Amino acid sequence: MAIERTLSILKPDATRRNLTGSINKVFEEAGLSILAQKRIQLTRAEAEAFYAVHKERGFFNDLVGYMISGPVVAQVLSGENAVAKNRELMGATDPKKATEGTIRAMFAESIEANSVHGSDSAENAKNEISFFFAEIDIVG
Ligand code: GDP
Repeated sequence: MAIERTLSILKPDATRRNLTGSINKVFEEAGLSILAQKRIQLTRAEAEAFYAVHKERGFFNDLVGYMISGPVVAQVLSGENAVAKNRELMGATDPKKATEGTIRAMFAESIEANSVHGSDSAENAKNEISFFFAEIDIVG
């Protein structure tokens, strides 16, 4: 299996409730290493750009408003099959449908305030990582 990188974001509901450490523990115990991490306040323009693929969806404005409602923690995770592994650890978008033990089942507040973002393909991971980090910021 290949060692991959993926982009993770701890969303405002997670930072507001001081869950950074609890969620990072899930990643690290599952064998994903945090190669880069920063806590930032996104601007509206940045959140709109990051979620541009969703701009035709009905919840786009709500999603952008939510993502700028407080700080987020952007992270680069690395490990075997990191993209799929992180999606598995996150659980389903809607926490009511998320498997027990997943991050969203344990911590998410709602389908919108669902604690974490994770890239959904290796190609998106590359683009999303470069949205937040320069190569020099990522220490393997
Ligand atoms: P993900 O890959 O599991 O994060 O899900 P999507 O790519 O489908 O959606 C992106 C994000 O939009 C989700 O993580 C949620 O924060 C938000 N979202 C998804 N579906 C809904 C919805 O029906 N209503 C609202 N308000 N937000 C949603």
